[in-house]
Amino acid sequence: MNKMIITCAICGAETTREHNPNLPLTPVELAEATYDAYKAGASIVHLHVRDKEGNATMDVGIFKETMKLIREKCDIVIEVTTGGGVGMSDEERMQVLELKPEMASLDCGTVNFGDDFIVNTLPSMRLYAQKIKDYGVRPTLECFDLSHIYAANMLIKEELVDPPFHYGFVMNVPGGVRYDVETLDFFVRRIPKGSYWTVMGIGGRASLLSHYGALSLNGFIRVGFEDNVYYSKGILAKSNAQLVERAARISIEGGYEIATPQDVRELLKVKKL
Ligand code: ZN
Repeated sequence: MNKMIITCAICGAETTREHNPNLPLTPVELAEATYDAYKAGASIVHLHVRDKEGNATMDVGIFKETMKLIREKCDIVIEVTTGGGVGMSDEERMQVLELKPEMASLDCGTVNFGDDFIVNTLPSMRLYAQKIKDYGVRPTLECFDLSHIYAANMLIKEELVDPPFHYGFVMNVPGGVRYDVETLDFFVRRIPKGSYWTVMGIGGRASLLSHYGALSLNGFIRVGFEDNVYYSKGILAKSNAQLVERAARISIEGGYEIATPQDVRELLKVKKL
């Protein structure tokens, strides 16, 4: 039976309590939200952290504390962001790798991000990929655009990333590529054979539709407040877990078995922290 890996991106860098008052922010809240998402079927948590004011930070101490609190509750695979937040430097974004997390996101190019933009030049991508490899961390190759798939191929060719490759397609970022199943299919056909991929649609409708895209094309699902704060049109989600529950339910109805963290470690060759 096909296994469905559900990643939950519980807070992100840009989502605020004004978007959804149920957003977890402190290490304790992040660990609780992770545990609830895990119980609902998530096997990977994609982690950003916030400072005392609730702003995005790449502070290693806060990551360390949050990861420890998560580990006390469950064995979910922890994927840290190296994307950080808009405007952060490479040094800032990379320091979390010192903690040797199990997985890390690796942004594969430059993209509009609403009225802002995220810059990832090839030289800086090589730097991230090398550091991720040196620490024995497994990367998720985040592609916000078709060109990012080709940029990721360059890293693969330069042996900066080891197989099996795991891609994250980020679709429907304002100013980026829109989500539709034809575009997703086009992306999927352009990654190396035997690779794995997850998809996240940004915003309520794209998020839900991308789940069905993953079910149709044999990919994995990412949900969570980083990508979308709504459960349905105009209705805010009560929690990250509520979004995971739905993703798990439709996956099971679609004939998938929900992957455990152990399944993820075996499939994606992740070394347990
Ligand atoms: Zn993120």
